[in-house]
Amino acid sequence: MECFKIGFIEGDGTGKDIWKASKLVFDEAFRKVYNNSKIIEWVELLAGVKAFKEYGDYLPQKTLDDIKFLKIAIKGPLETPIGEGFRSLNVTLRQYFDLYACIRPVKYYQGVPNPMKNPEKLDVVIFRENTEDLYAGIEWSAGSKEALMLLDFLKDKYSVDLPKDSGLGIKPISREKSYRIVRRAIQFALDNRRKSVTIVHKGNIMKYTEGAFRKWGYEIAEKEFKEHICLEKDIQQGKIILKDRIADAMFQQLLLRPDEYDVIVTPNLNGDYLSDACAAQVGGLGIAPGANIGDEIAIFEATHGSAPKYANLNKVNPGSLILSGVMMFEYIGESEVASIIEKAFQKAILSKKVTYDLARQMDGAVEVSCSSFAENVCSLM
Ligand code: NAP
Repeated sequence: MECFKIGFIEGDGTGKDIWKASKLVFDEAFRKVYNNSKIIEWVELLAGVKAFKEYGDYLPQKTLDDIKFLKIAIKGPLETPIGEGFRSLNVTLRQYFDLYACIRPVKYYQGVPNPMKNPEKLDVVIFRENTEDLYAGIEWSAGSKEALMLLDFLKDKYSVDLPKDSGLGIKPISREKSYRIVRRAIQFALDNRRKSVTIVHKGNIMKYTEGAFRKWGYEIAEKEFKEHICLEKDIQQGKIILKDRIADAMFQQLLLRPDEYDVIVTPNLNGDYLSDACAAQVGGLGIAPGANIGDEIAIFEATHGSAPKYANLNKVNPGSLILSGVMMFEYIGESEVASIIEKAFQKAILSKKVTYDLARQMDGAVEVSCSSFAENVCSLM
């Protein structure tokens, strides 16, 4: 029997429930495809509250070492305190392993309740730069020694006079890191026969960060993909259209003309906002998957957080983690496993036996628990 190892982080809050449900689905899909001739050995990696209880550390070195060794992991959500306390473990993982591409596909599954007239028109894959921008974690609280020194420096050197009680954050966006995320988005568009790549930025206001991201995006496309790319003003049959949009306008575009967009590539903060907004258009965070991918290591995760108010109630939708698993299986070349999970997931939605988030918006739906939803997916494979 062939066996291979994948790491998992259960996560905080609802993580425990959605991981248990998702694992059931993943193992069943493997059984269906390989009839036990190949299995996954799930290796638990401790992080978050569970790790703190065991090791007194929210992200133990052993977890980092294990991820480095395994190269592939899937994780539930991890809590982050707001405005104080430790730094986001999610951001730390992305930066530690240089998982520079946060990839979030957003498409409609038939039958999912949603606020749009034609939700099926949205079918995008968002490439969010994951390591730079305001998420780089370079910030100082108001009144701190560092903030006061930087305020003095800005005043002395550049005559920039800011209020003394300002908190400060730095927004780095570099050419190399812009190149690599745009390169990855264009390569994905080519490999998957997508129609266009849209660079989303706020370069009209933040000229030397977001504006530079746009400029470098066009630059790398010209350097490395010249024969595969065309511009909006000169559309050529069979080539990928490279275009750009200002971030605020893009929110409107995705609502009003979603079918004009396909692959989207954008700096960190825009990508965070855009992916939640897109997820809402097709039915919400409960079914929004994601992946954080570097050159060697990939960590797959639900887009949503730990929803602590629902922790241990066996209530929330495990769909986002199940679909993150679909991405993971595609990534490791198990496309048949990925495909039967996705098809069974679609059938489970159409059966109208769904978790509270979908049931409350669906006519004639039966509300089921997190684990029952997963069992239904398994029975429909
Ligand atoms: P959240 O956990 O994403 O929950 C916000 C709301 O989204 C929930 O109240 C619920 O809506 C809905 N929701 C989330 N997960 C769902 C699921 N599986 N099924 C159905 N609905 C779901 O956001 P938050 O409350 O702002 O954040 C909680 C914690 O998670 C924070 O510590 C935050 O830092 C962390 N977080 C972690 C990650 C990550 O690990 N990658 C990402 C984001 C946030 P209703 O109330 O309408 O039912």
